[in-house]
Amino acid sequence: MSTIAENRNKIISEIGPNVTLVAVSKFKTPAQILEAYDAGHRDFGENRVQELVAKAESLPKDIRWHMIGHLQTNKVKYIVPFVHLIHSIDSEKLLAEVQKQAAKIGRKTDVLLQIHIAAEETKFGLYEEECLVLAEKIRRGHFPNIRLRGLMGMATNTDDTARIRSEFQRLKSLFDRLSVLYPNQIFNTLSMGMSSDYTIALECGSTMIRVGSAIFGSR
Ligand SMILES: *Cc1c(COP(=O)(O)O)cnc(C)c1O
Repeated sequence: MSTIAENRNKIISEIGPNVTLVAVSKFKTPAQILEAYDAGHRDFGENRVQELVAKAESLPKDIRWHMIGHLQTNKVKYIVPFVHLIHSIDSEKLLAEVQKQAAKIGRKTDVLLQIHIAAEETKFGLYEEECLVLAEKIRRGHFPNIRLRGLMGMATNTDDTARIRSEFQRLKSLFDRLSVLYPNQIFNTLSMGMSSDYTIALECGSTMIRVGSAIFGSR
């Protein structure tokens, strides 16, 4: 078995059946993606629209493509027709564009709101108050072609595991607050945890981890 398949299978056995592993395949070749695919993997994440579209065209059609990176409004139209889940909704303007493009083709698009939990100013994401306002607008039907599935966040890039844990705990408690408002099983996805911190994320209640280098090797 290939190393990629072995790495993937090992993580799948660690996380169990109730957590989804998104294999982050950015900068990796279609051949490398197929090694994971042949081991049974179907959920793949990309952070750039151009690369996502090119790979979706050339790879098997039963792959579920996740958009995990910062998304520009002018590129939304290229991914809405096929994307499985957009993790990175970080503004109302972006959500409005996804709504517009999804309505155009009569599709409902699944999204997560990306929350700013890290100390770094450079990371994207909504602040908690903005998230609550936007979630309420979705709940009231302002975005009829959007299905709000949950939240996504990235912890600070640090060796301080206590800090990472407290950031994930904050995201989990916001997720729990919103779950009360969406009691219909649709709001069920908490995307947090990457190669370096997914073990902590799982302890804090993650339902979806986004793992690149621990599967495909370093970039
Ligand atoms: C690249 C990336 C990941 C995966 O990072 P690794 O450290 O390689 O596991 C996860 N989430 C986002 C948003 C990314 O851009």
